[in-house]
Amino acid sequence: MAEQGERQRVTVITGGSRGIGAAICLRLAAEGHDVAIGYRSDAEAAEGVAEGVRALGRAAVTIAVDTADAADVDRLFDTAAAQVGPVTGLVNNAGVSGPVGPLAGADPDGMRQALEVNVLGYLLCARRAIGDMTAGGAIVNISSAAATLGSPGTYVHYAAAKAAVDAMTVGLSKEVAADGIRVNCVAPGTIWTEFHADPQRPAKVAAITPMGRAGRPEEIAGAVAWLLSDDASYATGTVMRIAGGM
Ligand code: NAP
Repeated sequence: MAEQGERQRVTVITGGSRGIGAAICLRLAAEGHDVAIGYRSDAEAAEGVAEGVRALGRAAVTIAVDTADAADVDRLFDTAAAQVGPVTGLVNNAGVSGPVGPLAGADPDGMRQALEVNVLGYLLCARRAIGDMTAGGAIVNISSAAATLGSPGTYVHYAAAKAAVDAMTVGLSKEVAADGIRVNCVAPGTIWTEFHADPQRPAKVAAITPMGRAGRPEEIAGAVAWLLSDDASYATGTVMRIAGGM
């Protein structure tokens, strides 16, 4: 799929079936990436994104995977390599908020699931990606402005998980820099997606956001595309906040 003499860019995007992940898939395709789209349950939505990628002239495969399951993660990367090509990029994006409300009332099983997807899932995917990127590559982790705001009364456990994403970005970036692998992070503020238990949360958060509005998934996708591009060749270990001033 690559132009002659040019290295094929094959990027795995977890949670690519909708929201921020879907916007990332389409933006990366427009910039010449072939993609492997991970999703959890909505095969039809994932296939719709894949069709959009193919309409842009790039290859796409969809793979149902629970990113918190190591065997699933191996299958995701095995399928990407076999059906698209050697993996050069990873966007760790699949995430869930878990229970919403003060910590004192939060359901422990929901919290555990959120920690497993947002932290263990990112680590498992990054672990496998760096093993596959023998000729170098780039990873972008999707964190959240919550990591530094703390999300009191909403989801402190989720903010803590996203702070772990920031920390793993810094540590892993140093660990693999000499291997030609860059690791960066994008920390979005509130974005209009189906992520929110209260669908109107982005409208409500607008009032306390300096820019006066929530963000669009495409505004996150552009930052991810830049961090994966050669223009970002000296950027590693950075957390890029895209949060309307929050
Ligand atoms: P979303 O619309 O809810 O989409 C979540 C995606 O993750 C879906 O593709 C879903 O697949 C997938 N997914 C969920 N659990 C999974 C699992 N265990 N294994 C594999 N895939 C799984 O969310 P979003 O708003 O686009 O959020 C994307 C990322 O941005 C998340 O990491 C989130 O924490 C972060 N973020 C979001 C906001 C925001 O305001 N939206 C703000 C800051 C950070 P199915 O559709 O098949 O279930």
